[in-house]
Amino acid sequence: MKRILHYLNPIAHLGDKKHSFLFPFLVSISTCFILEGYAYRIARDPNAVGAYAIFVFVALIIYFAFRDGFRGGYITTFMTISYYFYIIYTRNYTGDQLTAGIRTTIILAVLYVFLASTIGWLKHTIDYLIEREADERRRLQALMHQLPVGVMVTDHVGRVVQTNKRLDTLLGAKIPSGYQIGKDKPLLKSLAKDKVATSAHSPLLLALTRGKAVVGREFTVEKPDGKKVGIRVNSAVIRNKQGKIIAAASIIDDITAHKEMEKRKDDFVNIASHELKTPITSMKLFVDVLLRRKTYDQKSDKMLTSVKNQILRLQDLVSDLLDVSRLQTGKLTFRKEEFRLDKVVAETVEELQQITTETEIVVVKKTPIVIYADKFRIMQVVTNLVTNAVKYSAPNTTINVAIRRKSNYAVVSVQDFGIGIPPDHQRKIFQRLYQAPGSQARAFRGLGMGLYICREIIRRHHGKIWVESEKGKGSTFYFTLPLS
Ligand code: ADP
Repeated sequence: MKRILHYLNPIAHLGDKKHSFLFPFLVSISTCFILEGYAYRIARDPNAVGAYAIFVFVALIIYFAFRDGFRGGYITTFMTISYYFYIIYTRNYTGDQLTAGIRTTIILAVLYVFLASTIGWLKHTIDYLIEREADERRRLQALMHQLPVGVMVTDHVGRVVQTNKRLDTLLGAKIPSGYQIGKDKPLLKSLAKDKVATSAHSPLLLALTRGKAVVGREFTVEKPDGKKVGIRVNSAVIRNKQGKIIAAASIIDDITAHKEMEKRKDDFVNIASHELKTPITSMKLFVDVLLRRKTYDQKSDKMLTSVKNQILRLQDLVSDLLDVSRLQTGKLTFRKEEFRLDKVVAETVEELQQITTETEIVVVKKTPIVIYADKFRIMQVVTNLVTNAVKYSAPNTTINVAIRRKSNYAVVSVQDFGIGIPPDHQRKIFQRLYQAPGSQARAFRGLGMGLYICREIIRRHHGKIWVESEKGKGSTFYFTLPLS
């Protein structure tokens, strides 16, 4: 029954290039027989079919022109007109009746051809559009399957519509179409930042709820065979012309090899910095001893002091390298205690002022605030910000440091009137090894680790760090810490 209905439904044949010839022919000829049967057997009047025939054949022409295109429409038209001539011939019309019959038939023939052509053309256009869309889809599908990354497309509620082969290989499992993310049972165990990821972590669902792209989310998933894969997911929403979200898509990249490489690099940095620490400490010790002897001429003394300064710089670099490596491996620990932030900041500034001769560092505001944090790490942050302020300012300028309270937070600011940072680099400078353009000049040597370490230390104290700056006019770095 379903198949018969499908066969008869003209809409089911849209986009279908196979047009039937026999079906319209058989239906038309059967209709002629039925009408003849009606005229002679039921109505018992050979002229009874005229009016019905017009309606019945108009309906048939519309139906077949839409079902089978031009061909269906023209076959039915041909059969209809033939039938009209057959009627004229068999009913023995003469004189005016014959002329009127022929004239009507010709007018109807023109109308029928026009109807069959219009509807046939409509069907042809719809077929063409459907085919064009199908071709587009095929092209897209071929492209999707060739991509070296996993792709998943869902509808607006996160129900999977399409995936590509790469995704199946990457995850070791096929996500069935119709699977709803966040609602159906998870297919794979997924970890985000070493914790089991829930649907709230799904970048695709996040993108759908936020209405904007979610990029660079990293997870580890466990394949059905127990192997772990590192993946990076970028998700974005797809909107229609009116701006309504109609779908979402995720690009999933295998980063297992990349992560292993990163780990090896981190391990190397860790080992190298550990190995460097000991000889540098002994070198510093020996130079200190030599410097204390004071048996050299002025030139040698100056050279020794210079050696010591270089060793101190080396020590700072190695210590930063070690911190970065500890941060990467999650091994940076904090020894928290209660202390007066204002005092510690002022002391740090004082110490830094002693070694900075060309720049004046002023504590402009010093609100007494007690916080619970790792004192030495907070000192490290202040040292870093002030040293940067000195490094990126012209000599004989001032640096203003302030400690304020704002609701439940302590806010420390370090303001300089130096080279400033262009707006598009202000967020990036807190990334690992990032340096804003212009700061690589010889005068500003560094590795771009300091602000990354500061950000991580402040983050792990549940605070925030940011910069407000204007190129050429100076920068103010802020960090907040929750009050104890
Ligand atoms: P480093 O100073 O060793 O390069 P940091 O992580 O401390 O590394 O700083 C990263 C980048 O941020 C610097 O290279 C510089 O471009 C920019 N920067 C930091 N502090 C300042 C400042 N006070 N004024 C201008 N630029 C700054």
